[in-house]
Amino acid sequence: MGEGEPRACAGAVVREAVGACLLGLLRLVYHRPMSENRESTPRGSGLGGTVGSTGDGVFRNDANRLGLDYATEAGLLPKPPAPIIDIHAHINGRASARVWARAADLYGIERVYSMSRFQDAEGVREELGDRVRFIAFPDWSHADKESVHRGAYLDIIRQYRERFDASVVKFWSGPALVDHAAGDPADLVEFDSHWRVKQAELATELGMMFMVHIADPDTWFRAKYTDTARYRLKRDHYASFERMLDRFSQPWIAAHMGGSAEDLDFLDGLLERHDNLYLDTSATKWVVRALGGHPNDRVVRFFTRWRGRVLFGSDIVTMDDHLRAEKANTISIKSEQASTEAEAFDLYASRYWALRAMLETEYAGESPVVDPDLHMLEPDRFGEKAAPRLPGLALPRDLLLDLYRTTAESVVEAFAAAR
Ligand SMILES: [Zn+2]
Repeated sequence: MGEGEPRACAGAVVREAVGACLLGLLRLVYHRPMSENRESTPRGSGLGGTVGSTGDGVFRNDANRLGLDYATEAGLLPKPPAPIIDIHAHINGRASARVWARAADLYGIERVYSMSRFQDAEGVREELGDRVRFIAFPDWSHADKESVHRGAYLDIIRQYRERFDASVVKFWSGPALVDHAAGDPADLVEFDSHWRVKQAELATELGMMFMVHIADPDTWFRAKYTDTARYRLKRDHYASFERMLDRFSQPWIAAHMGGSAEDLDFLDGLLERHDNLYLDTSATKWVVRALGGHPNDRVVRFFTRWRGRVLFGSDIVTMDDHLRAEKANTISIKSEQASTEAEAFDLYASRYWALRAMLETEYAGESPVVDPDLHMLEPDRFGEKAAPRLPGLALPRDLLLDLYRTTAESVVEAFAAAR
């Protein structure tokens, strides 16, 4: 790992330039024979084929540091074993929904479960039709900040259920909730405290299941949450979550590999203790970095053992601000992630590319997506545009079928149909 941009080799002035150049060369050596033989490389072989071969090594944007042509790359991936269900995304804005749909078409994504902002949900539904299903999600823009995750959320849950037929309620319970909750957070931040229980009871009454964001990357606990009296240790966040898993027996999807892709033994224990717990693969940067930190065979063993308990999700966030330089929303840092339609396409397609390349192929190289956590933690070792290893797991196709579709159907869609 390192700077990883072949461009940096010419000047050789960046930190670790030699290592970066070597890595860049390794990447090129790995791909060049393949791209030269592109015609004779069978597509859809499931072995990685020519995935990554369109990269010219020229940095385009933070979602495309290798200069990939994501539209062409989609055709180099194996054909998915079935149309894919993305169980975790945030589609906001009609224009960006159309850009997402183009990426989704190319990457074989048939349906998406979206935590759209409440005020955007109607427009997104008009744009995507039956292709989108909604997950109830707090209205972060609510004028009464104290109420966002408390009383106001009860009302929002009911409206998502009635107006948008949502069958899943999302609880956002990252460590930073203590900063966002406003007022005394004691009635909220412990996962089985007053308001969470009230919301879960309402969801149960309305026939809804759960999705939860618990904890955050290890990197954030090391760099941002150093005040442990305030943010607690990562493991501390799981005790009350486990109590809720026992208390409310419907299915729970713990997003972002349960918040602990860094520790697969811990996730083994969680899944062993709770039959109603499922995970999703969403948060591409975090999940690629964390899974790439394990030997590939350990990760393959994990997905094999927990077949039927892990769902495919991307955590793609779309917004119309991604299509323009002038931002309507100056609060969200996500507004700045793209400023043209081409950049927005790269932003959305890169997540599908990275996840599918990781899960389906033997890709051996760096992720095309900048991972700022590397530089944040080790600025002497990683440049600002560095990215981690992307582990090509080459999961068998019958397992991919479960991950991409069957588990979402048997858990989420069967649950919704039974209500
Ligand atoms: Zn999300």
